[in-house]
Order: sequence, then structure tokens, then C-alpha cells
Amino acid sequence: MNHLNEEELIAYRDGEGKGRAEMSAHLEECPECREELARIEAVFAALDAGAGSGSGLRAASVAATGAAIAGEMGGVVGRII
Ligand SMILES: [Zn+2]
Repeated sequence: MNHLNEEELIAYRDGEGKGRAEMSAHLEECPECREELARIEAVFAALDAGAGSGSGLRAASVAATGAAIAGEMGGVVGRII
């Protein structure tokens, strides 16, 4: 199985059933995807803490943007350090 993409990891986090067993099996044997899932979890946790309520769709959209920003920031910090 290929690595899970961000969309799949977000779906997994949201508890969507499609391909869940496969994703779970892949995560068990793939540190890279576990790390990516942890990164997404952190972004969602930060957004949940700061964003308050909102529709699920809007929250997902904001989260996707947040993940992209977090990725950008990670790159910038990496370059500074
Ligand atoms: Zn993987």
C-alpha cells in the first residue's frame, strides 16, 4: 500500500470507515505516516482550541489551510535554524 495522503489521514482521524482497516494496518507499520497523522492531529487540536464552533465543512477547510500553513512554517523554521 502507498503512503497515506493528507486527505486520507484527515478522513482516518475523522473516523470515516472507507479503507479504515487498511489505513490502520499501514499506520502500524509506517512511522512516516504516523508522524504525518500526529502533525495533522496537532493542527486540528490547535484549531479546535482557537476556532471555537463552526460547521464541519468550514472547520475541515480551515484545517486543511492550517495544515498547509503549518507545513510552510515548518519549512521556514527549518531554514532559519
Ligand atoms: Zn506510510
